[in-house]
Order: sequence, then structure tokens, then C-alpha cells
Amino acid sequence: MTMTIRQAIDTMMAQIPGASREGSVDTVKCGDASQPLTGIVTAFTVTHRVMREAASLGANLIITHEPTYYNHHDRTDGLAGDPVYETKRRTLEELGLTVWRFHDYWHAHRPDGILTGVARKLGWEPYLDLGRPAMAVVPATTLRSLALELKHKLALPFVRIAGDPEMACRQIGMLLGAVGAERQIDYLRRDDVDAVVCGETAEWQTCEYVRDACAGGRPRGLVVLGHCGSEDEGMRYLADWLRPLLPAVPIAHISSGDPLTLLA
Ligand SMILES: [Zn+2]
Repeated sequence: MTMTIRQAIDTMMAQIPGASREGSVDTVKCGDASQPLTGIVTAFTVTHRVMREAASLGANLIITHEPTYYNHHDRTDGLAGDPVYETKRRTLEELGLTVWRFHDYWHAHRPDGILTGVARKLGWEPYLDLGRPAMAVVPATTLRSLALELKHKLALPFVRIAGDPEMACRQIGMLLGAVGAERQIDYLRRDDVDAVVCGETAEWQTCEYVRDACAGGRPRGLVVLGHCGSEDEGMRYLADWLRPLLPAVPIAHISSGDPLTLLA
């Protein structure tokens, strides 16, 4: 018997014990979840290329980590008539795609699905400090080497750093994604953190805190990977995690890629 999209979503949700659906952004964004599932694509975010590639693979469910419509709750009331939004909405409809967001619950999985996927890709699973949330203790390195290792292993086109490139780094806050300046600075303030690795930063807040910390004799480093670059491997890992749960379903990951281009 063929499984519906809704049944596949429920199968995944059953793996996140205790997850409350109250207020979560992890909802169906478009499409019809009562349809039979033909295949799944996991992605960091729903780009036009992701939509077309998913359709050409015969998949009708995209599981996305980030919003489809440019705000946290995918509210569309302010977007009606916006040509960019309308084109995207129409394309999803024409391709028969259902989009379901898996953000809160994938982070709520124990261990965190995104951090696990990234740590596996980096070969850092043994370095994760399970006693301190989102911390890794790596062999002694410099901020420069750390950033270049991340760039290389995650196959990123570029990374940016704040702080002295030659500063010693060992205790790393793995604040992937866009957790906000407050939480980034909370980590950088601590005595047991040398550097923070983030997806997105706030240049006027976190980066200036790092600059002042270094100037004041309290060296701290920040590595900015880009939001997609910092979490995409977590969504690739989701595809690996799903295959044994849904063995009859074709499942693929498509990399969204960074929306920014560096001109250096
Ligand atoms: Zn995330």
C-alpha cells in the first residue's frame, strides 16, 4: 500500500518524542499532504533549482529547514501580489510539490540532527562535548586553520572570520544557523569558549564584540560560514536518517547553495 505524504510526516514525527506541535514553524507550507508520496527531497531551503530538481527526480515532498516565503512563520498575508512570491507559489503548484518544514523538530531531535550531520561531515563527532550544549573541543589550532578546515571540509566557496587569525583555538561554540547576536555574545563571553562558529552573524553586534574582546586582551574568534553552509550537511544527514525509516521511498538531498556571491 502506498504511503501518503501525511503518513510519512507522522513517521518522522514519531521519532521526536515529546515534541509539541504547539507554535512550531514545522508545518505544511503548500501542496496536499493527503496525496500518495512519490519521493522526498531534503534541502536547506526551497530555491527554484531545488523545486525543479525535485520534480525531475519524481519527488512530490520537499522537506526544508528554512522558510519558503522569507519570514519565520511563512506568513503570506503581506505577500499577495508580490511578483516574486506569486511566481514561487505558482511554480510549486505547477510542479505538484508539497513543502513541509522540519526545523524545530530536527533541532529538537537528540542529538540535534543538524549539529550531528555537520559533525559527521567534519569528522568531529568525537570532539562534541556532550556536557556543554553546542560545544566542540578540537585539537589545538589557530582561528585561521580552523576556518580553512571548515571551508575545505564543508566545500564552501568562502568563509569570513572576526578576530586575530593566529589566535589559539580549542574550545569552539558550534552555533550553526542564525541564533542571533545575544546568544553568540553569551558564548563569546565565557571563559571556556575560544571561538564561535556561526552561520549568520550581526556585524554591528557580534563582530564588534569580538573586535573589542581582542583589543582588550581577551582574544575571541568568530567564523562565519554562511547560513546554508553551516546547516546544509544537517539536511543531507536527514536524508540518510530517513532512508531506513521509509525504505520504499526514493530520498535525495539537494544543496541549496549560498545566496551570496563573494567578489574579492
Ligand atoms: Zn537550523
